[in-house]
Amino acid sequence: MTVPFRFAPAKSAWLLAMAVPALVFAPAAWSVDAAVVAVVLMTVTVVFGHTVGLHRGIIHRTYRMGRRTRAALATLFALTGLGSPLGWLLIHYLRDHHQSRPDAPVTLRYDHDLGTDGWWTLFCAPVGVNWDELAIPPEDREDPVLVALDRWWVPLQLVQAGVLFAVGGWSWLVYGWFVRNTIVIVGHWFVGYLAHTAGWRRYRIAGASEEGRNLWLLGILSFGEGYHNNHHAAPGSARLGRHWSEVDVGWWAVVALEALGLVWGVARPDGPDDLLRPGAARVGDRVDAEPSGGVARSC
Ligand SMILES: [Zn+2]
Ligand SMILES: [Zn+2]
Repeated sequence: MTVPFRFAPAKSAWLLAMAVPALVFAPAAWSVDAAVVAVVLMTVTVVFGHTVGLHRGIIHRTYRMGRRTRAALATLFALTGLGSPLGWLLIHYLRDHHQSRPDAPVTLRYDHDLGTDGWWTLFCAPVGVNWDELAIPPEDREDPVLVALDRWWVPLQLVQAGVLFAVGGWSWLVYGWFVRNTIVIVGHWFVGYLAHTAGWRRYRIAGASEEGRNLWLLGILSFGEGYHNNHHAAPGSARLGRHWSEVDVGWWAVVALEALGLVWGVARPDGPDDLLRPGAARVGDRVDAEPSGGVARSC
C-alpha cells in the first residue's frame, strides 16, 4: 500500500507567511520582553495544547477530563501555530495505523533523509486517504469544538496576533507570533524526525515498522515528546519519561491538572515496564507477540 504525499499550497503558505517575516524582521524587532513573551506563550500552548491536551489527552486518552477542559486544551493547540487540532489528530491516526504494522508505506516510515522528510512534513500532505478505515472515534472526528477549530484556527491566530500587537507593539508581534510560530512548526517537524531516527531504544515492538527513539536532551526540550521509544511502546501512558532522569514537563502538567481536579483517571505507570502495549518488550527480553492492530496508538 502507498500513501502518496503531494504539495499542499495552503499549508506551505502558512509556514512561509510566518517564516519569511520572522527572518526579515527579527533582528530589528529584538527586545528582551518580546523574547520572554514568546517563550512563555510557546511553553504554555505547546505543553497544555499540544503534548498534554491533544496528544496525551484527546488522541491517546491517557486521562479523563470534562468538556470545558477539553475545549480549552484544544483551543490552546490552535494557538500553537501548528494548525488545526483535528487535522493533526487525523494525521496521527494515519501514522499510527501504518507504523504499528510491518509494512508501513515509505512516506510514513523513516528510511529517508532529513531533506525528504522536511519536504513531505512541512510542505506536503497525504492524498487519497480513506479516513474511514482508520478507526477514528466518531466522537473525536465529529467533536463540535474540534470541527469549529478546524474552520476557525486561522482567524483565532489573527486575533492572537492582534492582541500581541495591541499590548506590546511590533516587537511582541514579531517574536510572539512570527518567530514563535515558525520555531514551533519547524521544531515540531525536527523533533519528530530525530525521535524516529536518532537516539536509543529501551523497548522493541514486534511487528511494528517504527519503534521511535529516546533522546534525553530532545525529551527535555520537547516537554517529554522526545522520549519517543517509550511512547511507541506504551502509548496509553500519560507519562512519557520512564526514568527519574527523563525530565517530562508534560507529565508534570498532567499531575498539576489532576491536583486541580481538571483531569482524573490518569494512566500512570507504576513500574518501569507498566502499561506496555501488546508486542512491546524491554530490549533484551523476548519479543514475539504481534501488536494488536487499532488498539495501540503512538506517534
Ligand atoms: Zn502518539
Ligand atoms: Zn512516532
